[in-house]
Amino acid sequence: MCGIVGYVGNKKAVDILLEGLTSLEYRGYDSSGVALNIDNKVQLFKAAGKLQNLKDIVNKNYSEISKSTIGIGHIRWATHGAPTVENAHPHSCNCGRVAVVHNGIIENYKELREKLEKNGCTFRSQTDTETVAHLVASKFAQTQDLTEAVRLATKEIEGAYALCVIHQDVKNTIVATRRNAPLLVGIGEKEYYVASDVPAIIQYTKQAFYLDDNQIVTLTPDSMKLIDIENNSISPKIETLPWEPVALSKMGYKHFMLKEIHEQPDVVRNVLSGKLRAIDENITLNEVTLDKDKIKNLNRIQIVACGTSLHAAMVGKYIIEDFCGIAVDVEPSSEYIYRKTITDKNTLVIGVSQSGETADTITAVRQAKSKGSHILIITNRPDSTMAREADSLVPVNAGIEVSVAATKSYMAQLISFYLIAIYIAEIKESIDKKELSDLKHELIVLPQKIEKILAHKEDIQKCSKAFSSSKDFIFIARGINFPTALEGALKLKEISYINATGYTAGELKHGPIAMLDETMPVLSILMSGKVYDKILSNSEEAKARNARMIALTDSVDEKLNELFDNIIRIPEISEILSPALAIVPLQLIAYYIAEFLGKDVDQPRNLAKSVTVE
Ligand code: GLU
Repeated sequence: MCGIVGYVGNKKAVDILLEGLTSLEYRGYDSSGVALNIDNKVQLFKAAGKLQNLKDIVNKNYSEISKSTIGIGHIRWATHGAPTVENAHPHSCNCGRVAVVHNGIIENYKELREKLEKNGCTFRSQTDTETVAHLVASKFAQTQDLTEAVRLATKEIEGAYALCVIHQDVKNTIVATRRNAPLLVGIGEKEYYVASDVPAIIQYTKQAFYLDDNQIVTLTPDSMKLIDIENNSISPKIETLPWEPVALSKMGYKHFMLKEIHEQPDVVRNVLSGKLRAIDENITLNEVTLDKDKIKNLNRIQIVACGTSLHAAMVGKYIIEDFCGIAVDVEPSSEYIYRKTITDKNTLVIGVSQSGETADTITAVRQAKSKGSHILIITNRPDSTMAREADSLVPVNAGIEVSVAATKSYMAQLISFYLIAIYIAEIKESIDKKELSDLKHELIVLPQKIEKILAHKEDIQKCSKAFSSSKDFIFIARGINFPTALEGALKLKEISYINATGYTAGELKHGPIAMLDETMPVLSILMSGKVYDKILSNSEEAKARNARMIALTDSVDEKLNELFDNIIRIPEISEILSPALAIVPLQLIAYYIAEFLGKDVDQPRNLAKSVTVE
C-alpha cells in the first residue's frame, strides 16, 4: 500500500518528493526514503517510522541534498520485512547505481532472489522489492538502456507493482511502470511528476495521465516516451484532473477523526443532494446505467468489500433484500477471489471501497466483470482504478478522509445503499409507497439527529473514559444493526488496540457468553423495532453473568436503568435507518477511548488507509 513519488525537471526534487510523501502518508507510515542524484551520484536517504524522521535527516544536510533536480521517494506499509531502515525504500543494487521504489508485492521474489544471489548479488534487506533493484541492474549491465532494463525485468516479475527507477549512468531520467497498482504521471513545464495518487502532484499540475497495466514510461525534463511491455509505442491519454489543491486542516479539532465524525451531517446532505428531492418524488440516480428492464430481471446481487466498507455492504444487504426482494450475498473481497463464484449477466455485482484502490476488491470486480455481470462501484474516489472498472459509478462525495479509521466515508456508503435500494424498489414497485416516503422523510431529517448526538458528545466521552481500562469489549446487536456492532468493534480495535468483537446477540449464548464476568463490558445496540425485546433478553443473560452493561438505544424506557450501568440515548429513528445513527456514538466511544489512552488516533499502528496489496 506504500506511496511512491518521482520528479524530474528543474526544481529542487527533494522538496517535491517530501511534499508528495506528506500527502501520501495515508498509504503507510512504517518508514520513508528518497533517492536523489547529487553530484552525479545516486544517494539514498531513509528513516524508519514517521515521515518526520526522514524530514529531520534531510534538513540536516538540506543545502547539499536540495541540489538534485531528479529523485524518487517512498512511504512504506511493510509487507515483506520489518519496518526498519534497511527495509525502507529506495532499494539499490551491489554497485549502488540503481534506485527503485515499489508499491505492491513481488510474488516470485524468493526464486528471483535465489537466482540473483547465485549470480553474485548481495542483498541488504528482507524485502521483496530489493530483487527488482538487482534485476534491473543486471538487465542494465546487458543492455545499457534503462527503459529496456526495466521492461526485461518486469517480464520476469510476478505479482503487483508500481515502480519508479533511476540510474546513476542515465542522467535526468525516471522510468516508471505498473501492474495492478496505481500510478499516474503529471506533466509540467519541462518537468514530470510520477505518483501513486493525485494529492502528491495536484499542487503542481492538473495535466496528467494514468498508466495502464504493463505500460512503461520514460521521463526526462524534455521528453516522455510511453511503451507497452512488448515495446510498442503508445500515446498517453492525457486528461485534466478534476481536482483542486486542498489544504488539509483539522479545523480546530484535536484529530482528523473527530473532525470527520463531525462532518457526517453534511456528508449525508451531500449524498442525498440532487438525488432525493422530495418525499413524494422518485429517487434520481443517473449514475446507475443498468437498464430498467434488466433491473427488474435481476436474480441476484453480490457485494464485495473489505473492512469498514464490508460493514456498509452488510447493511446494504438488509436494505436491498427488504425493499427489493432480491437475494443479496455479501462477501469479503479477499474470499470472493480465487474460487469459482456463481455469477452471470443477471447478477449485479457491487464493489465498495473508500479509496477505490483496494486490491482485493479490484480483483473481485474484475473477476465478476469477466463473467458478464454489471459492475456497480460505490467509492469516495471517482478517479480511482476501481471506478474505471465500473459500468455504474456511484461516487459518495464524502470529501477527503484523512484519518485512517473510516467514519464519514462509512456514513456516505450507508446512505448510498439506501438510495440504491430505494431506486431499485421504485423500479420494481416492490415496496409500499407510504413506507418509501416515510423513509425518505427520515433520510432528510437524519443530519439533524446526528447533530443532536454530536451536541451531547461529552456524555459519551464520560462513559468512554469509564471503560478505557478494559482489555476486551463485546458489542451485541441483531438484524440490521449486527453490522453496526461489527463496525463499532472494528473502530475500537483499530485505534485503541482493545480486543473488541461484535456478535449477533442471539449467538452470545452459543459460546461467547463463557467469556463474560465482571471485567467484561457488553454494549447492547438496542434500537426500537422487531428485535428490541430479543436483544433485551440477551442483555439480561449477559447481566446475569455480571458483565458491565452499556446500552445504546433510542428507547426512553425507564426500565433500562435497572439493567444497564450506562445508557447512551440517541434520537428516535426507524429500525431500517437506525444503522446510520447508531454508528455515530460508537465512533465517538472508539475515539474517546483511544484519545484517553494516548494512542495515535489518526495513524494507528500497523494500518494504512488505502490497502493496495492483496
Ligand atoms: N512489498 C514492499 C515492501 O514490503 C512494498 C509494500 C507495499 O506496497 O505495500 O516493502
